[in-house]
Parts: sequence; C-alpha cells; structure tokens
Amino acid sequence: MYRFYINNIDDDYHYMELARVFLPDDGFETIAYSGKPVAHLLGENSFFVNEKGSDDREEIKREFYELLSGITGIRPPWGTLTGVRPLKPALEICRERSVEEMERIIKSRYLLSSRKASLLSDIADYQLAHVSGIPWDKASLYIGIPFCPTRCAYCSFASNVAPAEEHEKYLENLLKEITYAGRLAEENGTMLESIYIGGGTPTTLNSSQLERLISRVSDAYHIDPSKIEFTVEAGRPDTITGDKLDTLNRLGISRISINPQSMKDDTLRLIGREHNADDIREGFRIARETGFDVINADLIAGLPEENLNDFEASLKEMIDLGAENITIHTLSVKRGSRLKENDPGYYRQNAETVSAMLDLSRDMLSAAGYRPYYIYRQKHQIGALENVGWCLPGKHSIYNIRIMEDKQTVIGLGAGAVGKVYHPDDDRLERIANVSNYKIYSERFDDMISRKNEYYK
Ligand code: SF4
Repeated sequence: MYRFYINNIDDDYHYMELARVFLPDDGFETIAYSGKPVAHLLGENSFFVNEKGSDDREEIKREFYELLSGITGIRPPWGTLTGVRPLKPALEICRERSVEEMERIIKSRYLLSSRKASLLSDIADYQLAHVSGIPWDKASLYIGIPFCPTRCAYCSFASNVAPAEEHEKYLENLLKEITYAGRLAEENGTMLESIYIGGGTPTTLNSSQLERLISRVSDAYHIDPSKIEFTVEAGRPDTITGDKLDTLNRLGISRISINPQSMKDDTLRLIGREHNADDIREGFRIARETGFDVINADLIAGLPEENLNDFEASLKEMIDLGAENITIHTLSVKRGSRLKENDPGYYRQNAETVSAMLDLSRDMLSAAGYRPYYIYRQKHQIGALENVGWCLPGKHSIYNIRIMEDKQTVIGLGAGAVGKVYHPDDDRLERIANVSNYKIYSERFDDMISRKNEYYK
C-alpha cells in the first residue's frame, strides 16, 4: 500500500483520481496534509508531495504525476487530466488563444502526450468551425427506454430484459410524463434544440409503440421531427425490423444509431449478444434502404479476447458500410456489470493494446475523411483512455456536443434519465434524476412527475 501525503490542499479528491490512473484502488491512499513532512509518517512506500507548499493545483498535480510515473514506470497519455470532459479546459483556452497555442499550453500544463493534445486540437478545430454558439433559450430532451433483448456483459445502464406487457405499462406512464413535461416547457417558453431517445434500446418497443412515443413528443413539444435533430437509438440489431425503421423514417426521424460494438461473432457471443455480425449487416442494409440521413455506429476497444486485428476488421467494415458517425469507445468496466463482478481488475489490463486500437482508429478514420467532433471519458476505462465521436464533415450530432459542454439544460424523461438544469448566471448545473429501475419509476410515478417542476424553479 502506497501512502501519499499531499501538502497544502483542502481536498484530496483530484489527487486520488490521478493516483487511480496508475494504481489499483486498494493499492494507495492519498491524504490531504498541511505542514512540513514528519519523519515517522514517511515510512516505506510513503511519500510527501508539494514540499514547497505551492498553491497552484496544476503544479502539485504535475509533481504527483511524475512521482506516480516514477513508481509505476508508466506515463498515461492524458497526463494530469482526470475529468470526464477533457475538451473543456482546451476550449476555455481557445477563447483567448489560437488552437495551435492551446495545443502547446495543454501539453505543458497537463503533461498530455502529443497525440492526445493534437486530438483535442482537432476536436476544438471542428467545433469552432461547425458548431454555433449555445442558444440559451433552448434545451435538449433525453428520453430513456430501459429495455434490451439481453443484457451485455459490460452493461451498467438502466437496462432490463422484460416481457412485452411491461414495455406497454412503462410506455403508458412515459407518455403521461412527456405530456406533462411538454406543458411545462410551453408555459415557460422552453424550446428544444435536439431530442435523443436512448436507453436501453428504444427499438425494443414495437413499431406502433414507437409511433405513439414519437407522436406524443411531437405534440407535447410542438415540433416537427424532420425539422429538428432527432435521434433514436436502434442500438441492438436484433431489435431492428423494416417495419420499425419505416415508422421512424415516416415520422421524420433522420438519425439512428446501430451499435455493433464488434463485428466478430465470438466476441458478440462473449459479451452476451444474441445476434451475429450478419444481423448487423442486415440492420445496416434495411436502414440504408429506408433512407436515414445519419447512421451512427458504436464500436468498443478492449472487448474480451479481442486483438488489434479484430478491432481493425470491425472498424474497416463500419467505414465500408458508410456509417456517417462512428463512435469509438474504450471499454469501461463499472459497478453493476457482469464483467466487473467476474473480473474486478479487468479495466487495469490491456492498456497498451487498447491504446494501439485508439491510435489505429484515428489513423483509419482520418484517412477515410472522418473528423473527431466530441470526446468524453468515464470512470474505470481501460488505461484511463477516452471515447471519441467521429463524423463525416457536417454530420455531427449537436446533442452529443451540448451534453459534453455542460452549458445547456437537458430535460430527462423516463427511467434512468438524468436531466440537468443550467443556470447561466453562475455557470452551474443542477442535476435532476428520475429513478433508474423501471418498476420503481412506475410505482413512484407521481414523484417522477412532480420532479419535472424542478426544471423551472
Ligand atoms: S445494448 Fe447497451 S443498454 Fe442494452 S444491455 Fe447492452 S450495453 Fe446495456
């Protein structure tokens, strides 16, 4: 067990997060300390950080990073940046400096590797060129459908395998919540910039349920789905039918997401999918025939037993299938997932392979004309690496960008939805969450409804 006494700090949270990148959770302790090092504290494997008593948090983190790097022999590429939104500090610098200057500054301020600094620079470049300022009077709307055909081994979302009657019961309450939230939005003059129906897998619902859902959103918020960015996740190919996609298309939905995660049949079996790569190809074929503007495809780097060649083959196929958006996730192994229960330390393995997968994805996607347009990180990702959304120019999702900017209200409806109210006066977000279990959502439905008033307090 390593012990790190960190001098002249109020709270050890950020230092603990940084140490986690290098060491297992039970392999260290960080202690906020004030004063001179005391000999009896500094036994074997105990270290004192910031002996000179600096007040500069970034300077202390750099010293701590170098210490951890010396102990473990690794240099994680995100340097001292531990938050989920690495683009945020970069964009703040871009308010006053050029993108080139920003890249140089973040490299030295946060000890970023050259590749990560240039990735942030590419994303900042894209957003500055293609994304307009945030419309303060508009919100995003997120709706959760917490059902999937099976549960994936790495899943930590509010997702359930439930019989069809449960889908219907859930939908009936959800439609009421949408009507109520729409009325509040109208009374308060809130308009929507984008809508995202996720989960779970929304296309677990049948086509008439999907039609009722989308029609209710359109009526409650007075929108025409074809005139607003409106995404519906059709993530699992085993839920896709021509009938459902026809319904979505007829109602004006232009963006869907089909999420293979891998095109290797063995991997799909290992992660608990009940479909194969041919089903994914068929899903794409139906979606193309139906005629959506944008199909997003998610892939995951670091799935069990996958090597670089497997990942390359999956990515090549997504590019060949012409997905307009390709999102490359690093596997995150969180509490609540089967993978975490079976192998709690899984996320600490294979960092080099996954890093090579991300590097390869950048090379292949750039060569195929894609641009990186949003980025985020999660806890317990292999190698503390990242997720990056790539798009063909102009085909980005504004919802994904806004959600990462943290400067817009997101209205969250349905089980597992986490909404946020943005207060521009003090640049603050207030979280308003629905419960994640769909049965409790129905049991406590009155509470879910009254929580919607909190968006307008
Ligand atoms: S498709 Fe997504 S939400 Fe559904 S079980 Fe798999 S990881 Fe969870």
